[in-house]
Amino acid sequence: MIVHLVCAVLFILALRKLSSVRTAVKGNNLVIAGMAIATIATFISYSLNPRGLWIIAVMSLGGGVGWVITKKIKMKDLPQLVAAFHSLIGLSAVCTDTAIFLNPVMFNLHLDNNVSLSLEIALGLAVGSITFAGSFVACLKLCGKFKNNNFSNIYILNTILVLMLILLTFLFIKDPKLHRLITIMLLSIVIGFTIIVPIGGADMPVIVSILNSLSGWAATGIGFTLSNNLLIIVGALVGTSGAMLSHIMCKGMNRNLVDVISVGFRSQQVGSKNMAVQSSVNLCTAEDIAFMLENACSVIVVPGYGMAVSQAQHGIKDLLDKLLSRDVNVKFAIHPVAGRMPGHMNVLLAEANISDNFVYELDNINNEFASTDIVIVVGANDTVNPSTKDDPQSPIYGMPVLEVWKAKTVVVIKRSLNPGYAGIDNPLFSKQNTLMLLGDAKRVINDIVKQL
Ligand code: NDP
Repeated sequence: MIVHLVCAVLFILALRKLSSVRTAVKGNNLVIAGMAIATIATFISYSLNPRGLWIIAVMSLGGGVGWVITKKIKMKDLPQLVAAFHSLIGLSAVCTDTAIFLNPVMFNLHLDNNVSLSLEIALGLAVGSITFAGSFVACLKLCGKFKNNNFSNIYILNTILVLMLILLTFLFIKDPKLHRLITIMLLSIVIGFTIIVPIGGADMPVIVSILNSLSGWAATGIGFTLSNNLLIIVGALVGTSGAMLSHIMCKGMNRNLVDVISVGFRSQQVGSKNMAVQSSVNLCTAEDIAFMLENACSVIVVPGYGMAVSQAQHGIKDLLDKLLSRDVNVKFAIHPVAGRMPGHMNVLLAEANISDNFVYELDNINNEFASTDIVIVVGANDTVNPSTKDDPQSPIYGMPVLEVWKAKTVVVIKRSLNPGYAGIDNPLFSKQNTLMLLGDAKRVINDIVKQL
């Protein structure tokens, strides 16, 4: 009990530290310490028998695979890795609940006339299966392997499936039979697919966050079933923080949760191309930009997903140093959904040793664009799209945006005039004060630094 309390305190402190880039590493270390203590204590409390040795062997194998993955993974691929790990949490909840159902005595539990246990198993299995399938699809979508978003009215099918799931759960509680449990699992997997498959564009970050929350609740469910306080606490921490993050992200995108899940409208617009927007842009070279920067007093850098793809953050740090040595006032503006996961840009800038002091969130910098000489947009697109303000027909109309076009000059660095993640054209490219510098962000930034 004392060990559980110590671990719970460590996890709560970790959450506090993880809320800032500056203290995030300490937070991570606290989580590792808490997990290590909890694992060792669990082994000590059960005498080690051959089965325990099997568990250690499997854990070592899993830990080894995890270690290799974290060493090899590129920063830009982190969001899909997070989604894949959420999927595994869902799968482990499914396995645990199935094991409890098949052999409750091994867990000191009895299923006969035990309504609450049947309910816990059914709910745990449903949440775990939805998390497993939904996160798997989210992972594929973030990898760019699932592009077809045209599923209007799928929410009618989803409603029918959810009603069927409720009915099945009720039947299972009345009479817990294996075939019912398997049907609950399969139906939940289908629901996981049909809910996430049609979601596209700007709603994806909220979904990743909701799945994060669901994986926490799946763990909490198992905690209740096994009467494991620590699992209940940890699951609730993950579940609640994920739910709060979803709420904050919805607010950041001017959307509500029901809207996001009942989709349809955004995806219909994906892929629309307005050739008029693409025909009249001002192209420029790295040399032009270096010349302009030499005469600028204030610069705001707006990073987006393209910075992550090209790994341009280190070049941007060199650019920052050059500009600071010339007494230019430099700031970084971060949109809450820039990149492919919450905090994606903050992590990359921190990785390049760019101090937090230069980094500003949307609300704190939007009114500074009007008095800025040059804004450099590095691989960002949807998050700087003026349609969010002045095109009521746009699927991202009403979403908060970095109002970069208000600056004296905007330089957009990207490889082409193609749309961003939401698949919609960006009128920013053809504004009079916008200069397009086409090319890979890392190469282009390095060219500018060389010229400076
Ligand atoms: P976008 O996805 O809108 O745009 C990124 C741009 O980067 C693309 O237009 C692409 O243009 C450019 N790019 C890609 N590779 C390179 C490269 N090597 N060098 C230069 N440019 C490159 O990014 P934003 O960050 O502006 O917006 C994020 C979007 O992703 C939002 O729609 C958000 O909702 C969504 N999203 C966010 C998540 C989150 O949690 N933050 C999760 C999932 C989705 P080109 O191909 O022409 O180079």
